[in-house]
Amino acid sequence: MLTVDLGVNEKGHRDHAPRARYECQRCRTTEGPVEGSIAVTTFIEHVRAVHATRCHPTQESASA
Ligand SMILES: [Zn+2]
Repeated sequence: MLTVDLGVNEKGHRDHAPRARYECQRCRTTEGPVEGSIAVTTFIEHVRAVHATRCHPTQESASA
């Protein structure tokens, strides 16, 4: 599951730097977190491109 925190509060103001974190439900791997708008963008691309190649589910019990 990819979690992206844009760092904007409920009033729409920038509260802190954007952050992203990836928790894979399949292989139980956590990547990140990273902080900063450029880092977040790169991280999302990285997760989508790279994680899939090394995602090895440890068990199939979660599959429906
Ligand atoms: Zn995975």
